[in-house]
Amino acid sequence: MKSIRQFLHVAAMAMLCVPFALGQDSVRDYRRAHERQILQEFTTLLAIPNVASDRENIRRNAQFILEMMQRRGLNPQLLEAKSKETPPAVYGESRVPGATRSIILYAHYDGQPVDPKAWTASPPFQPTWRSAPFDRGGQIVSLPASGEINSEWRIYARGASDDKAGVMGILSAFDALRAQNATPSFNLKFIFEGEEEAGSPHLGEIIELHKDLLQSEAWIICDGPVHQSGRKEVVFGARGDQNVDVTVYGPRRPLHSGHYGNWAPNPAMTLVRLLASMKDETGRVTIAGWYEGVEPLGAAERRAIAEAPAYDNQIREELGLAQTEGNGKLLMELINQPSLNINGFSSGDVGALARNVIPTTATAVLDLRLVKGNDYRQQVQHLIDHIRKQGFYVIDHDPTDAERKEHALIAKVIPRAGGYNAERTRMDLPLSMAVVAAVQSTSRDPIVKMPTSGGSLPLSIISDRLRTVTISVPIANYDNNQHAENENLRLQNLWDGIETLAAVMMMKGISRG
Ligand SMILES: [Zn+2]
Repeated sequence: MKSIRQFLHVAAMAMLCVPFALGQDSVRDYRRAHERQILQEFTTLLAIPNVASDRENIRRNAQFILEMMQRRGLNPQLLEAKSKETPPAVYGESRVPGATRSIILYAHYDGQPVDPKAWTASPPFQPTWRSAPFDRGGQIVSLPASGEINSEWRIYARGASDDKAGVMGILSAFDALRAQNATPSFNLKFIFEGEEEAGSPHLGEIIELHKDLLQSEAWIICDGPVHQSGRKEVVFGARGDQNVDVTVYGPRRPLHSGHYGNWAPNPAMTLVRLLASMKDETGRVTIAGWYEGVEPLGAAERRAIAEAPAYDNQIREELGLAQTEGNGKLLMELINQPSLNINGFSSGDVGALARNVIPTTATAVLDLRLVKGNDYRQQVQHLIDHIRKQGFYVIDHDPTDAERKEHALIAKVIPRAGGYNAERTRMDLPLSMAVVAAVQSTSRDPIVKMPTSGGSLPLSIISDRLRTVTISVPIANYDNNQHAENENLRLQNLWDGIETLAAVMMMKGISRG
């Protein structure tokens, strides 16, 4: 009996150890044989400007991705919001006979706005190869007509990493499966959003309008960078986000700073003082209630943080920072706390336009990152309460004459549309463990498991409406300049990403019925 049991045990273990009908090697072989084809399609996609507010070009992106999915037999369609002005999501699916469960793979095709003057490595929509990172001396190179392509090369373009790499990685991984006739144990669905960088203001509406199509066991989100150490990563949550514009007021017209300085209050100084009251010198937010309700991490999450490679010293050195915020706490710990950031500040002019004036207004754009347990509306309320406590009269419009006469300190506070809460999926769910096992199967190094990413994704918009879980499987290099000028993708990250995503599409542990 014992030996039979042992035999069954060994057989069961053997089955667990051969989780994929399709091995990593065959995905790699497929990729090696199709590199130029993949990069040709990728650079064509990158050349289409993808700022969400550029209605015409954003539709061209959607149309191009629709055609990419048509070529792959994914029966694609555009998922429109109520208004045709809204960038559509592109949806497609591959049904597996007999399977009733589905996994959705998500990426977004829009990118952050660009300031072409700042793009010194390449114009943002002229995809350009460089032999190494531009800021480390990388030269412009062109792809060789044949033979091996150096996988340390980087491609520069808006969206190269965030997040057209996701679109390309997902569709190439599917190509690799299809080429080998590998069949997942669940249906594959694909959705590519066109408004993520604008805060996903219509994703909820699109989900409501197309709810039946979008049902699934999980959304696998392919967005953002892998860990700074270069190790592959699975991320179980994302911070929420809310932007708020704060404007304070000085004299009604700009004043000569000699004639009126020391007499007329300067709004830049007023706003600097207000902002400085919001954080202490260690970076802790001093606004009352800011950290209220934050959900503590569970045991699996705390273990994952302890196991993650220590990288803070190296990244601090790379960034030229003598000291960081948080009293010595690790980056990975601190991103599990809500933050308050000044995105930008404007009052008067600098450089060639600088003049000796007392400006009329000063404006800051604040960026509130939220964690599980925070509510974005509540966080804005804490901010407003704090501004009031500093003696400001808070309004949502430019002050009237009467208001100006009555109040010395006036702040216009406008929360931007599109705020949302943080989301975090438990690491000990069977599905969470299946995703970790799949990604780990493609890497010799231990992968990094992050309870939450520092960046934000509208995950609660998805999980609240569809009652599903979200898990992020990022593929881009961490030093990709996402959201900034000179955004780039290291080629090896795309290649690795294809293997990662193919393994996720073939993961076990999700039954057909
Ligand atoms: Zn992104």
